Amino acid sequence: MDQVVQIADQLNEAIDARRDDLIALTQDLLRIPTINPPGDHYLEICEYLGKRLKASGFEIEMVRAVGAVGDSDRYPRWNVVARVEGRHKGDCVHFNSHTDVVEVGRDWTFDPFGGELKDGKIYGRGACDMKGGLAASIIAAEAFLEVCPDFAGAIEISGTADEESGGLGGVAHLAEMGFFDPERVQHVIIPEPLNKDRICLGHRGVWWAEIETYGEIAHGSMPFLGDCAVRHMGAVIQEMENTLYPALAEKRTDMPVVPEGAKQSTMNINSIHGGQYELPDDFTGLPSATVPDSCRMIIDRRYLLEENVDDVKREIADVLETVKSRRQDFRYDLREMHGVIPTMTEKDAPVVQTVSSAIEEVMGVTPEYVVSPGTYDQKHIARIGRLHNCIAYGPGILDLAHKPDEYVGVDDMLDSTKVMARSLVSLLSVGS
Ligand SMILES: [Zn+2]
Repeated sequence: MDQVVQIADQLNEAIDARRDDLIALTQDLLRIPTINPPGDHYLEICEYLGKRLKASGFEIEMVRAVGAVGDSDRYPRWNVVARVEGRHKGDCVHFNSHTDVVEVGRDWTFDPFGGELKDGKIYGRGACDMKGGLAASIIAAEAFLEVCPDFAGAIEISGTADEESGGLGGVAHLAEMGFFDPERVQHVIIPEPLNKDRICLGHRGVWWAEIETYGEIAHGSMPFLGDCAVRHMGAVIQEMENTLYPALAEKRTDMPVVPEGAKQSTMNINSIHGGQYELPDDFTGLPSATVPDSCRMIIDRRYLLEENVDDVKREIADVLETVKSRRQDFRYDLREMHGVIPTMTEKDAPVVQTVSSAIEEVMGVTPEYVVSPGTYDQKHIARIGRLHNCIAYGPGILDLAHKPDEYVGVDDMLDSTKVMARSLVSLLSVGS
């Protein structure tokens, strides 16, 4: 029998034999309530992962992101990086998973931190996003190490903090420390829940800004003696409706973004605050009669690979300048808050081609290439780490992320585990 086929069969057997282990591992991870914010139990989950992977032959590094946004002695941002070296020189394949989960929310019928197994599904907050993917990558590596001890290169598995809140205390920190330098790591797979037969190549860009319009305070009975900042903001929104939103709808991308609606440029008005602060619920009086002298709006603009951030900024500046040219006493400030450039790994990159073939071999389907509407930790790996051979691939249904009764299917996890293990065979020169 062809050696590669033989190895594939042995891997499938080794992974199927670990079914109970995969379930138990996922359950253990779900039972550590790593809710972020505030970022609880990071040390506990990193120690759990460290102990597990040390027993499997990995060297363990625990990294606290001291000084990163969100890090404090009460809520330390712990990360774990595990690495195992092969017997020969070669590439390093890194599996990166975030350990944090979002808040529970309402309407659960399962214990969100119980890890209950029912009808082949494991339920819990973070089951699909993304503790199921983390467990799959661990089982894939362990099965690979058993079947293919004579490999070239290295495998790394990291569990990182704060992805749900921007990743600054997690992957961004590790990337700044050099953990994702191209000399150290050559292939990155992020097991986010993109569905087991899809490969996510990257994400759209983000630009957040705050617009403030100014007025002049006066008595509310004589608004003509003041100048209403909220009406000025109303004019800004009207101009956006008339010109900007139609223009954004025209911009279509060749990136395979899912869902369909995100194939165009989008802009969400995140919030507007004008005039007096909202009165507390227990306050029974009336507001005072004043003309608002300030109105602030936060915008969340998502842009395409075909756009550049300078044009994105100029469009907003144009809206404001147009309004200014038409309205007397229109004054404003535009403050940038946050930005992420769009990123997309090329389809012919080695990690894409390898995982693609593995999906075809394991599941007999041609994988779909997708791009995420929102960002995830790939942004830090691409920008700070300068590593562009990176994808998201993992089990779980994307639509279940952050929802009540989130679950991950055991059979889906097993399939993804086989895809990951088989990718290791190709990338770490086994049998060649
Ligand atoms: Zn996630």
